[in-house]
Amino acid sequence: MDKLTIKDIDVSGKRVLVRVDFNVPLDEKTGAITDDSRIRATLPTIKYLIDRGARVILCSHLGRPEGKVVDKLRLTGVAQRLSQILGKQVGVTRSSIGSETEKSVASLKSGDVLFLENLRFHSAEERDSPLFARGLARLADIYVNDAFGTSHRSHASIVRVGEYLPSVAGLLLEKELETLGSILENPAHPFGGLLGGAKVSDKVGMLENIMDKVDFLLIGGGMAATFLKAKSYEIGLSLIEADRLDTAVGLMEKAARNGVNLLLPVDVVVVDEISAEAKGKIASIENISPHQRIVDIGPQTIKNFQEELQKCKTVFWNGPMGIYEIAQFTEGTQAMARLLASLEAATIIGGGSSAEIVTKMGLADKMTFVSTGGGATLRFLGGQTLPGVEALLDKDSLAAGKLKGLTTLA
Ligand code: ADP
Ligand code: MG
Repeated sequence: MDKLTIKDIDVSGKRVLVRVDFNVPLDEKTGAITDDSRIRATLPTIKYLIDRGARVILCSHLGRPEGKVVDKLRLTGVAQRLSQILGKQVGVTRSSIGSETEKSVASLKSGDVLFLENLRFHSAEERDSPLFARGLARLADIYVNDAFGTSHRSHASIVRVGEYLPSVAGLLLEKELETLGSILENPAHPFGGLLGGAKVSDKVGMLENIMDKVDFLLIGGGMAATFLKAKSYEIGLSLIEADRLDTAVGLMEKAARNGVNLLLPVDVVVVDEISAEAKGKIASIENISPHQRIVDIGPQTIKNFQEELQKCKTVFWNGPMGIYEIAQFTEGTQAMARLLASLEAATIIGGGSSAEIVTKMGLADKMTFVSTGGGATLRFLGGQTLPGVEALLDKDSLAAGKLKGLTTLA
């Protein structure tokens, strides 16, 4: 990676502001954290800083409070969970900026950890306000971005603080960029992309870009319906993006030109109506009735996909194969997760739903890497730069003497 990381600089005794992405899923009723993967993923950075005697100031957003204080979205629960994991007291400030917060920071000792309250309680965060960024920068000597999942956003805490503080990457950000970068740059072949989820439109950029790298492309989930429709199959009332039929045709043509073996479902699970009680029927794609909806891939498709995936040395998976939120329609998705977990190949999972499924099934440890990003992962794999990464100091700024009083490690 061509950006400086915390390993390149001396952090001991320094006040280090770390932007993390602890936007964790919360139980709607109890507010409890339902998946703390994103918290655990940043532990290497936090521990590294504690071990070297930095004063660690963490900041994150949670949910969409839209510039107002929303009690349910306070970071107290997140800080408590981190505190349990670290076995160390982690307090939360009342506001992410201001004199009271500055006082709390001033009382930190080497190795202490403090959390700033939800950044998005201030509308200035999402407006990318320089004043707000300045308020954050006043708290620290060094800025670290470890919030890969938010690095596609041009928000103050992601892109602006670096104007006032030397800015480097955290270890999670580095790992995300290196792992996802490796599948774009030098994947072991055969390389298969397994793609599902809701929409083609969310993923066109990524599809276009990985089309030049993959050997197989397996398409399931809601997006398969648009491809099937583009091939003139009857797909009933399945949700499609009518304005993306040409895109689907273009992608299939590109696959053919590049010698990419693109597989679509040959059978699917269909229902008359999508509901928690609905019972699915298996149908060949030749036999879908006008009133039916596709909700999962069928057993023959599962077999076909498994056969291709078993040949792969690298697999990237994004998006569920069906409406996995309903128990009856999780079979295809679970079968794919189990198969990936069993492969010797490099298995890389990206996307909110896909990561959630793999974690819930207890298979995350069996994968090579589960990305903490959704939008950021798609954007990166689409070949675009991430503003939050751009904003960090380049490795060669060491030589250029741009480090504003930072001590570097040889
Ligand atoms: P990820 O978060 O892994 O990137 P997406 O956000 O693209 O995945 O898609 C997840 C959504 O796709 C889920 O809510 C799921 O219900 C939906 N989905 C999957 N298959 C279908 C289908 N056949 N019809 C409608 N929605 C589907
Ligand atoms: Mg999603």
